[in-house]
Amino acid sequence: MLRTMTLAFVWLAGCGHGPPLIVTPTAPQHVERGPGIPIADYSAIEAVDPGRASNWQKVVEAARRVIASDDFQTAVKARTLEAVTHGPPVGGPDVLAAYLGASSVRGQVITQYTLTTDGCGRQTASTGVYSTTAGGAYNYAIVTLNTCTLERAASPDVFAVACALNTTAHELTHSVIVDGTQPYQDGGHKGDSHPMVSYTLGAIAQCVYLKQAGKLTMDLDACVRRVGEHAFDPGTCCADWSKRCNQ
Ligand SMILES: [Zn+2]
Repeated sequence: MLRTMTLAFVWLAGCGHGPPLIVTPTAPQHVERGPGIPIADYSAIEAVDPGRASNWQKVVEAARRVIASDDFQTAVKARTLEAVTHGPPVGGPDVLAAYLGASSVRGQVITQYTLTTDGCGRQTASTGVYSTTAGGAYNYAIVTLNTCTLERAASPDVFAVACALNTTAHELTHSVIVDGTQPYQDGGHKGDSHPMVSYTLGAIAQCVYLKQAGKLTMDLDACVRRVGEHAFDPGTCCADWSKRCNQ
C-alpha cells in the first residue's frame, strides 16, 4: 500500500510541521465509501495505550451523536461558511451534505487515529489524506492527536471533553473528499470573511455537547462565536471561560 500524497492541516497554527508519530497506522484494507460517516480505526493508539484509545473512541462516538442531532445540523444549515481562507462562500446545507456523506461520492473517507508526543502549543491535532494506491484517489485519512487532546478526552471535566469533541468534529471536516479534493482546509487563519467550515463545525459540536450536558449558559450561537469560528479558543476548555485553562 502506498501513500501518494499528504495534505496536513493544523489547527492553531497556519503552518504544519511533521509531528513525531508514535505509531504510523497501516493503510486500511477496505476503503469503500458510502452514505454516512465511515467507521473509524483506533488500532494505532490501542497499540500504544489501550486506555487512551478507549477514551478517544468514547469521544468520537459522542461527537457522532452530536453530529446526528437536530441542534448541530440546524446550526450548520443556517450558516454561510468559507471552505478555505479567501475561498468563495459555501452554503451550510451543502457543507452538511458533504460532511454527512449524503452520497457515495460526497463525504468522508475512513479515519485512522494516531497520536504524537507533541504538546499543544501550536495545534491540537492534524489530518492528512492518503490513497492506498499510487496516484489513486484519496480514500483514507490519518488524524494525529496531540497530547492535550487525549488528555481532554480522558478528563472528568465536561468542558475539557467538549473541547475534545470540537477537535473531533473539526478534523472530520478535513476527512471530507469531494470530487477528489479536500474542500475544507484551514488556510492561514487570517482574512477569512465568513466563518470557516472547520472551526465552525468544531465549535458547534463543542457547544451542542455542552448544551446536552446542561452546561451551556448562553445562546448556542453566542457560544459558537465565543469558542471561535476562525480559530479555536482553548480558554473554553474549562468552566471559567474568563481564565486560561490549564490544558
Ligand atoms: Zn484544521
